Amino acid sequence: MATIFSKIIDKEISADIVFESDNVLAFKDIKPQAPVHILIIPKIEIPKVTDIKGEVHAVLLGEMFDAANKLAKDLGIDKNGFRLVFNCGNDGGQEVYHIHMHLLGGRHMQWPPG
Ligand code: AMP
Repeated sequence: MATIFSKIIDKEISADIVFESDNVLAFKDIKPQAPVHILIIPKIEIPKVTDIKGEVHAVLLGEMFDAANKLAKDLGIDKNGFRLVFNCGNDGGQEVYHIHMHLLGGRHMQWPPG
């Protein structure tokens, strides 16, 4: 089922896009939880982490991590560190059912997460 992220991919609604390639899009989270809070998403619809198949999506996931590392470097948070998060399902706190990697940085993160 199409989500709001499909509309961002199709440019039907605007977002603050910070990276785009053939397969991956990254944009600023509308409700940032840290000085840097970017969502990195695949352009194909994969609803949940549990829908990921390693033999099908390995390269795509690699591209998402490459995008995260490039953005972390470009935004100057690579040296101090950052956090990458995938929320999955209800208990994981997932709100949008199109997988997305949260790139969070620019402040010290607490552990455990809430
Ligand atoms: P999750 O809870 O892991 O599903 O995260 C969904 C994230 O999407 C939340 O951090 C929201 O703030 C963010 N979000 C929802 N709609 C938009 C939007 N239109 N543009 C940017 N970020 C959004």
